[in-house]
Amino acid sequence: MNHRSVSHILESSIIDMGSFQVKQPLPTQNVPQISPFLLLHHFGPIKVEPGFDPIDLGPHPHRGFEPVTFLYQGGIRHKDSLGSEGILTAGDIQWMTAGRGIIHSERASDYFMENGGTIEGIQLWVNLPAIDKLTQPKYQEIRKSEIPVLSENKATHRLVSGHLYGQKGIIDTFSPMLIIQTSILSGGKTNIPIPENFNACIYILSGEIILNDHFNYPAGKMIHFSNIGEGIGLEGVQDSEILVLCGEPIDEPLAQYGPFVMNSQTEILQAMRDYQMGKMGFYID
Ligand code: MN
Repeated sequence: MNHRSVSHILESSIIDMGSFQVKQPLPTQNVPQISPFLLLHHFGPIKVEPGFDPIDLGPHPHRGFEPVTFLYQGGIRHKDSLGSEGILTAGDIQWMTAGRGIIHSERASDYFMENGGTIEGIQLWVNLPAIDKLTQPKYQEIRKSEIPVLSENKATHRLVSGHLYGQKGIIDTFSPMLIIQTSILSGGKTNIPIPENFNACIYILSGEIILNDHFNYPAGKMIHFSNIGEGIGLEGVQDSEILVLCGEPIDEPLAQYGPFVMNSQTEILQAMRDYQMGKMGFYID
């Protein structure tokens, strides 16, 4: 396989979210997005005592994109203005389409609150094409057992979205993308083919890998690839967990303010007005 070369190495900065800290490799000062991916927060792994909620995000709105949560350890309770409620446990995914507006809260699950434990996850913001920004909001909860799995010798791919080796991912997206949760054991090697027109990056949650038979990269880094080449090669130096994010770029202007991602400043002001006027629905606790 003709590998894609590395274009940027994105270091995570530490962001204070109030009750907890997250690693943020995207966006950075120099890389505002890797379209269609806008933001990645890696929280934990953090071990907490019973009675403490390390997430504790009260009701807040979103419009114009898809906030996605990958939970790797622990438990999260979700509630939103559509009336959806859900509990995520380790390995589950929450895929939310904010569309024209949703209000939700994210907190540790009751079980986690009672027992304490280790929590770890990723929140990813996926942009929506302009034509779909005001689509009907939607909440999808995917159990770990529902995610198609491709197993190789010492490598496991959970196919969230897009196509890999003839298999199709569990989530249908508004623009074409390929999202894979890849686990590699120490000594394992795998190649991931990436469609020619897709942007591509990986985030290393844990472990250490050798990329494209060349250099070692430790956990906490995001690697952004050039758009030339057929795919990427990953090799585990240690047992490693990687999130592979590839997608057709959405070539449209980006206007972002807090929890709203639109195409113009006018649309951002409209979003703020609509939220204040209750047009994104009502959250009832
Ligand atoms: Mn949110």
